[in-house]
Amino acid sequence: MASTIIINPATGDKVAEYQRISLDDAKQKVEAGKRVFDTWKLKSYEERSLLMHRLADVLEQNKEEYAQLITMEMGKVIGQSRKEIEKCVWVCRYYADHGRSLLLDESVQTEATKSYVTFQPLGVILAVMPWNFPFYQVIRFAAPALMAGNTGVLKHASNVQGCAYALEVAFEKAGFPTGAFVNLNLSAGEVKDIIAHRPIVAVTLTGSDPAGRSVASVAGQNLKKTVMELGGSDAYIVLEDADLEFATDLATLGRLQNNGQTCIAAKRFVLLDSIYEDFLELFAQKMQAAVMGDPLDDNTYYGPMARTDLRDEIHQQVLKTVEQGGRLLLGGEVPLGRGAYYPATILADLKPGMEAFDQELFGPVASVIRAKDEEEAIALANHSQFGLGAGVITTDKARGERIALRLEAGSSFVNKLVASDPRMPFGGIKNSGYGRELSGYGIREFVNTKSIWID
Ligand code: NAP
Repeated sequence: MASTIIINPATGDKVAEYQRISLDDAKQKVEAGKRVFDTWKLKSYEERSLLMHRLADVLEQNKEEYAQLITMEMGKVIGQSRKEIEKCVWVCRYYADHGRSLLLDESVQTEATKSYVTFQPLGVILAVMPWNFPFYQVIRFAAPALMAGNTGVLKHASNVQGCAYALEVAFEKAGFPTGAFVNLNLSAGEVKDIIAHRPIVAVTLTGSDPAGRSVASVAGQNLKKTVMELGGSDAYIVLEDADLEFATDLATLGRLQNNGQTCIAAKRFVLLDSIYEDFLELFAQKMQAAVMGDPLDDNTYYGPMARTDLRDEIHQQVLKTVEQGGRLLLGGEVPLGRGAYYPATILADLKPGMEAFDQELFGPVASVIRAKDEEEAIALANHSQFGLGAGVITTDKARGERIALRLEAGSSFVNKLVASDPRMPFGGIKNSGYGRELSGYGIREFVNTKSIWID
């Protein structure tokens, strides 16, 4: 049987090796998930809530261990790994406390004696997940799905299998029935057979646009519902009235947190002409001053990328953009030595048609674009195949709100980096996907919205 070898991206050393499971074993786990579903769906919200709170307790109690695991497997700086676990705790408690009220029956006035809408669980949901928030992406799916009465199986990214198994164990420690949430250590190529397996009723995928297209088409052939959380290359418009210290602090954090590998993070910066050079000068100073290094060191601002192949890919995208006429202002050189490091990089004077304008650059590279006025800035921001999380930076909040409403994205934030929050829906439009996670909208993605009519 093949195995998955986990490499520490900071050192290139082997961290662990996990045996893949066979397709037959995976199918049996899915069938077990269906058997658990048949009893789990009958539990009260109070019973499910108790276990969801216990899961939050387990995550809280083991925060340091899980944070170290995240950092060792995908290179996130340790402080951010701890924050990732804290966010998981928040999401578990949010759905433990609100799952019931978010799925209350809705009475409808008709000529019937009684008519209402009820929300019933669907069955076993397959989650195909990425490595960039290896705990949080999974909990963001699993907390609402299990509170609604579904069960879940996970096909996690190959490079974070330690996190995947730790999550499976965390559910067990919390007291969830064995089989309610399980990890399937399969290759990406085997996912199609799991989607086709009868007990799977729906699929949620967080990942790249090609993975999304592939999974959505297989699910479509099998008439199974999907939610797609895909890539982004959204714009942050910086208006001429913005406080440039604040704007460049936000831009630096947006490009370097999670080592530049966040789907909703600021990637393209559309600057109004009058502040263009001043912003760039300050931004370059701050990006250069940010300390790249060992992700286990609390003083490190950003660590390595998750894998060397991903680092090499982004470097090619930078080189291509420069060939196309983009101005390399900072970085852009692969450092010597071990690890998947890539330096903070700024590409300026970008235009539609250039790689860094059109495609997602999933790493510590900022793409900067000049706009002559507000209208052109909005047009350039919207000139994208993606529509996930966009932003506006301005001291005029009313103007910021007007622009935020015109940006083509699932979320538009004014004066703040786009972030997911369990109280608000999260998701994209265009090639960033469809469907929503979090809030009441997220928990209703994987339920049967059922009409009941008593004549
Ligand atoms: P990825 O290569 O698409 O992988 C995501 C998951 O899909 C992994 O489990 C992967 O398995 C699996 N996979 C890949 N190709 C597949 C296929 N053809 N069929 C079935 N499964 C397949 O993405 P990634 O590199 O892990 O993550 C980065 C991408 O995710 C970026 O584009 C980022 O913007 C996006 N993202 C989006 C969100 C959001 O909420 N919208 C959040 C985070 C990340 P293997 O690891 O075994 O290949």
